[in-house]
Amino acid sequence: MITPRLEVDLGSIRHNARVLVDRLAPRGIRVTGVTKATLGSPNVATAMLRGGVVGLGDSRVENLARVRRAGIAAPLTLIRSPMLSQVEAVVRHADVSLNTEPKVLDALSVAAVRQRTTHAVVLMVELGDLREGVAIDDVVDLARSVAKYPGLTLAGLGTNLACQSGIVPDQAKMLTLSHLAEQVEAACGIRLSVVSGGNSANLEWAMAADHVGRVDELRLGEAILLGTDPLSRHPIPGLRPDAFTLIAEVIEAKTKPAQPWGATVRTAFGEAPPRRGRGTVRQAILALGHQDIDPDALIPPAGITVLGASSDHLVVDMGDHELGVGGEVAFQLGYSAVLRAMTSPFVTKVEIGTARGDEVELAAERSVDLSVADLLAGIDG
Ligand SMILES: *Cc1c(COP(=O)(O)O)cnc(C)c1O
Repeated sequence: MITPRLEVDLGSIRHNARVLVDRLAPRGIRVTGVTKATLGSPNVATAMLRGGVVGLGDSRVENLARVRRAGIAAPLTLIRSPMLSQVEAVVRHADVSLNTEPKVLDALSVAAVRQRTTHAVVLMVELGDLREGVAIDDVVDLARSVAKYPGLTLAGLGTNLACQSGIVPDQAKMLTLSHLAEQVEAACGIRLSVVSGGNSANLEWAMAADHVGRVDELRLGEAILLGTDPLSRHPIPGLRPDAFTLIAEVIEAKTKPAQPWGATVRTAFGEAPPRRGRGTVRQAILALGHQDIDPDALIPPAGITVLGASSDHLVVDMGDHELGVGGEVAFQLGYSAVLRAMTSPFVTKVEIGTARGDEVELAAERSVDLSVADLLAGIDG
């Protein structure tokens, strides 16, 4: 089979979404499934929806357009502040966007009026992680102004923690958000339809809190896709960790000295990782590199150790495994490795299992197919 390939198990994604949706529902919290790590894969989106998420979120309008083009009708939220240069596309493809900038709201309003539609706005509040967000003191005024824009409706408030500075979403932060929601409702005379508490890093809080206040939605990507809690990096009990498997091919297998020799410099990717031990290692090179994965977020099979990587070579100590040229090695992946593998045109994506639960789907996609074919045709001819 073609390598490298990223196998995406839709059944695991559906299962993980279902478990999280069912755990959060009794707490009054709905789930928006975040598809950005899969570039808005329509099959992944469908698996999440079958797992019970109420809508889909993505940080790229291109990915939302892909979901919409596939005929998926669920509410779509752009979870990154729209680029001023993309407001027309945002209004066309997203029902909701997360916002912080008055200038962007102006432009969204103009685009919505021009397209004779309404676009819903969630204002993001800065609660200390120092990525996107309006200062707490400015939220009520900005909310009042949104309510006055033609073509826009104020859907609610949201916040995002953990991603930039690792700030933990705790009860105090969530109560601040709840309190702001109530202030905005009083000032604008409306009921907010969403108070979006955050991402997968909010799960620990959401499951443990005595009361979740006004928070009624979380935007979950990593927890659904990988079954891990990004705060602790631990697997979440009851979730499947196996939705993504990357299979790479051996292009060299040789016994080599354990230690390099000669004068040393820094490598293209910084300090060379230290090589341990004496004597020899049974070393294999896989046709995979920084261009395709984050080598630090690759989880090799037990007994195999990643020794280092460059753009296109992944060097492993094969331990007791018998790896020969043409052989395959299957890795599990952390979030940053999934993200890069999904984005690499050299990695074929193979979606397996059942997104819907009632039928088997199989789809393989390789965006370099054409250019590879062209290249080979050129060589042959
Ligand atoms: C990426 C992102 C999410 C989802 O984060 P996960 O950790 O994958 O759950 C939610 N909200 C925003 C604003 C994001 O950028």
